[in-house]
Amino acid sequence: MSVITNHMPTEELQALDAAHHMHPFTTQDELAERGVRVITRAKGVTLTDSEGHEILDGMAGLWCVNIGYGREELAEAAARQMRELPYYNTFFMTTHVPVIALSAKLAQLAPEGLNTVFYAGSGSEANDTNIRLVRHYWSAMGKPEKSIIISRQNAYHGSTLGGASLGGMVPMHQQGGLPLPDKHHIGQPDWWSEGGDMSPEEFGLMRARELEETILHYGEDRIAAFIGEPVQGAGGVIVPPETYWPEIQRICDKYGILLIADEVICGFGRTGNWFGSETMGIRPDIMTIAKGLSSGYAPIGGSIVSDEIAKVVNATEFNHGYTYSGHPVCSAVALENLRIMEEERVVETVRDVTAPYLKQKWEALTDHPLVGEAKIVGMMGSIALTPNKESRAPFAAEKGTVGYKCREHCFDTGLVMRHVGDRMVISPPLVIKPEEIDMLIDRATIALDKTYDQIKSEGLY
Ligand code: PMP
Repeated sequence: MSVITNHMPTEELQALDAAHHMHPFTTQDELAERGVRVITRAKGVTLTDSEGHEILDGMAGLWCVNIGYGREELAEAAARQMRELPYYNTFFMTTHVPVIALSAKLAQLAPEGLNTVFYAGSGSEANDTNIRLVRHYWSAMGKPEKSIIISRQNAYHGSTLGGASLGGMVPMHQQGGLPLPDKHHIGQPDWWSEGGDMSPEEFGLMRARELEETILHYGEDRIAAFIGEPVQGAGGVIVPPETYWPEIQRICDKYGILLIADEVICGFGRTGNWFGSETMGIRPDIMTIAKGLSSGYAPIGGSIVSDEIAKVVNATEFNHGYTYSGHPVCSAVALENLRIMEEERVVETVRDVTAPYLKQKWEALTDHPLVGEAKIVGMMGSIALTPNKESRAPFAAEKGTVGYKCREHCFDTGLVMRHVGDRMVISPPLVIKPEEIDMLIDRATIALDKTYDQIKSEGLY
């Protein structure tokens, strides 16, 4: 077989991909039929495909390329570490400098009282760690029956058996006999779709109180933890009403339930602070991290745990770990990523300059006839497409039909914007500049116009 390179004709690359590569969350046969898009290069916020098209990446890859593409310093950090110590484990009374340095840096950046990290290769693995960790913690505390973890419908916590069980995605549960036992899902704080006649504030309280009802239903001696994304990402960038998180925090405190904040998307500046927990006023016992930790340049995730959990767990042997826990190259890349973010004041710039600029433009999209609500926190936003802004009605067509069409128009206009059902979501690189925000909004508007014209002509509106 000849060497496969960027310079091969697109059709040949597509054919090889279709023959040998199974994609995540994809109907392979449909993809093979239409031909996969081959991404060949990227710089800043711009992707280039094998046909030479330039596309503004409004999703930062998969919500992860926080400092943008093409940073030489990260390539250098990886190469340097690969030459010096490409791999060593941390299982058997050994450690290495990159993991020491990264752990100390994370302890410094994380909210007060969270100073210890258990590493994983991804967000899913880190959430698997969390399941085992909280159960082990309660066992070590003499309460092994505290094993139920409460989560939310439409949450995303990963694709492993544990992560998908914590998550509340019905199509995932329908495959492979999930969720695993001792998981319970309460309603999500999605006022737009589920709030009915309640005010957002009333609805937020109502949804939070489902946590209390669930604790009382099982008995607090059965509940280990509650897990939630500060702002649900993959579920459609659902920004909870302001009443929601304070009530969740109150309930966790009252019943002594551990609170796990899944910061895989919200962490590392996405919401305009280092962690979404700070933006939402949450005091978590554990934070799940991944994605923006290395800006996606290397696969690394982890759980940052409270001093209390560390004290209890550290007095025991926790029989858990991954070959790549604290991988030296990934740690070195993450550390360099954090160094750049601090040096270039990326989080402060998001908070004070670019996020307010984007917010004003994003919220103005509600002037478009198709857009009901526009929500945004820092650099993660969503718009709800609707045929009736007043009643917040869904389209008559199957959920996601209109969102999918809009996503396709976005691609054709040179913008990656994802759809979750009929919500369009963005999560651009944090380093996006004001003029690139203008471009994003212009392209999104063109795509909305085209979607509007199309669904009217197809009788879907
Ligand atoms: N938690 C959240 C909140 C996520 O958004 C994701 C990924 N989208 C995960 C966990 C899983 O992370 P990974 O894909 O790295 O396993």
